[in-house]
Amino acid sequence: MNIVLMGPPGAGKGTQADVMARNLFVPHISTGDIFRANIKAGTELGQLANQYISKGDLVPDEVTMGMIKDRLAEDDCAKGFILDGLPRTIGQADALEAILAEQGKKLDKVVNIDVPADLLITRLSGRRVCRNCSQTYHLENNPPTEPGRCDECGGELYQRADDSEETIKNRLDVYTEQSAPLIAYYEQKGLLLSINGNQSINKVLTDIGKGLGQSW
Ligand code: ADP
Ligand code: AMP
Repeated sequence: MNIVLMGPPGAGKGTQADVMARNLFVPHISTGDIFRANIKAGTELGQLANQYISKGDLVPDEVTMGMIKDRLAEDDCAKGFILDGLPRTIGQADALEAILAEQGKKLDKVVNIDVPADLLITRLSGRRVCRNCSQTYHLENNPPTEPGRCDECGGELYQRADDSEETIKNRLDVYTEQSAPLIAYYEQKGLLLSINGNQSINKVLTDIGKGLGQSW
């Protein structure tokens, strides 16, 4: 299954994508995670991307699409993928369709996780991420068993620099202006599955499963 997960920053895309990917035996491809891995490794791509990410702006489409084209061509995507964080603009959506068509593929479903704007700030400011395996927690909603340590690998949890209050505000504005129009775009194509994200993590997962015909 070739799936895109959409929704504003903090909607729960990464949280859901992780479990869905494990259940479907397909890779979870997070463009944000790929950029952060490049920033950590100090690559040229990472240095370029960081100029935008640190301010909460989008990395230019041509950079992002070049990166994702290579990733989608890897062998592990042959049986499907969960794409988390892309597309974020109509231009990226058109480019994604063209890349997939070249590979003889198309999207099966676009899952939009809908969460009211006032909840997103609390979700993002309480988010903590494992430095080692990128597993995501929340200080109140989904805390690790041992404070500051990842349940999965024991790695150190940290707060993303772009989860600061000022950057969050810009990210939410960028979402409204550049990414929200994708909801109507995919609805028109008959691909959209809308999910109420203002529910427990497990209930959101169950609802996504129902919409995709999966009982996980
Ligand atoms: P996104 O990838 O869409 O930016 P995340 O999956 O990182 O969002 O989730 C943002 C924060 O909200 C994390 O701290 C996560 O633990 C928490 N979270 C995710 N889903 C839910 C939910 N259904 N209810 C409450 N908190 C959630
Ligand atoms: P995320 O991990 O999805 O919250 O993304 C973190 C940041 O990475 C975003 O705020 C953007 O700066 C950048 N980013 C991730 N995905 C994209 C994309 N598809 N297009 C442009 N920038 C992106």
